Amino acid sequence: MSSGKAVDTKRSKLIAARVNRLSPSGIRKFFDLLESMEGVISLGVGEPDYATPWPISEAAVKSLEKGQTMYTSNSGIPELRELTARYLRDNYKVDYDPDGEILMTVGVSEALDLAMRALLDPGDEVIMPDPCYVAYDSCVILAGGEPVKVPTSQASGFEVDAADIEARITPRTRAILIGYPANPTGAVMSREKLLALAKVAKKHDLTVVSDEIYARLVYGAGHTCFASLPGMKGRTILLGGFSKAYAMTGWRIGYAAAPREIITAMTKIHQYTIMSAPTMAQMAAIQALKTGEASVREMVEDYNRRRKVIVRGLCDIGLSCYEPRGAFYAFPSIAATGMKSEEFSEKLLMEEKVAVVPGSAFGACGEGYVRCCYATSLAEIEEALQRMKRFVARHKK
Ligand code: PLP
Repeated sequence: MSSGKAVDTKRSKLIAARVNRLSPSGIRKFFDLLESMEGVISLGVGEPDYATPWPISEAAVKSLEKGQTMYTSNSGIPELRELTARYLRDNYKVDYDPDGEILMTVGVSEALDLAMRALLDPGDEVIMPDPCYVAYDSCVILAGGEPVKVPTSQASGFEVDAADIEARITPRTRAILIGYPANPTGAVMSREKLLALAKVAKKHDLTVVSDEIYARLVYGAGHTCFASLPGMKGRTILLGGFSKAYAMTGWRIGYAAAPREIITAMTKIHQYTIMSAPTMAQMAAIQALKTGEASVREMVEDYNRRRKVIVRGLCDIGLSCYEPRGAFYAFPSIAATGMKSEEFSEKLLMEEKVAVVPGSAFGACGEGYVRCCYATSLAEIEEALQRMKRFVARHKK
């Protein structure tokens, strides 16, 4: 295989059909392009611009110095599971047994994959909002399932409606997959709407997979943990992580909390494919839960300042923008330019060197929008807005 030509996996007979079905992440494609350019301001990748707070990194360094470099128990270091259980109890009043109801994973990414593989038989359907995080439908497909999308819109704050979910339930529906605060929209679901969704899940005996990786990044809205709703703990797989709140994306550490039977099944897959989450990342996560709170609050305050600047700035230049109440993304409409989101993003990158992600990367309902991550410095946000202003003025319809 040294022809230098990329393999066209779409037509490859070598590759399994369910893998051929996946398109490469619309986000990565942009970042490959961006790496070859200079002077680009990136509102692209969804990760904090902060380094991990030093006491957290230091705990990992010390663990290395002590030679703590072996595997841990499959489900994770007991102290970390205990602290995670305490964290969920203290913050959301939901009780998990650290011994059997919590599994430490390689980020929420692994937890999501395990959840789907544990739940789905071939052809089982999983209902999810559109637009949504790029990995949701891919994980379902890789697990042999079928993603079923529920449109959401700017007009309804990108919250998914329980009645719209119910309308899509079939005998093959196995689960509902939600992620609030949401990537790419920054939407937060109100408690009332989540309660309505809980009612539907109960009525149709469905499992809810709730990706709450952005739970700590909320701006005045407060976070409702889905498992904390009456009767929901027994049918929820709660996915949580350290990547976003503690600026720990590169450590690759997260967790799943769920009923024992589900965690047992997920652990079975985890033990054959991963063994245990990275030991030093687990040591760092222990420190994050012990002493990271002040840093989280500081970073959230800072994101909030940036959020206000970017939302106001985007609206001022004619890109109407729903006010995100969580995560660190603004999702402005680009209707004023009449362009498709990929064309907009490509031209913006080439003409003004600002990287955003086309909304279409997140599903059909993301078309007409772009995702701007504001986890970057205020100075860069302001410069990006200036460049976007010129761009929009040039291309306004
Ligand atoms: N879930 C959502 C909604 C995300 O936005 C991301 C990362 O961007 C992930 C999960 C993956 O997180 P982790 O770094 O914990 O694997």
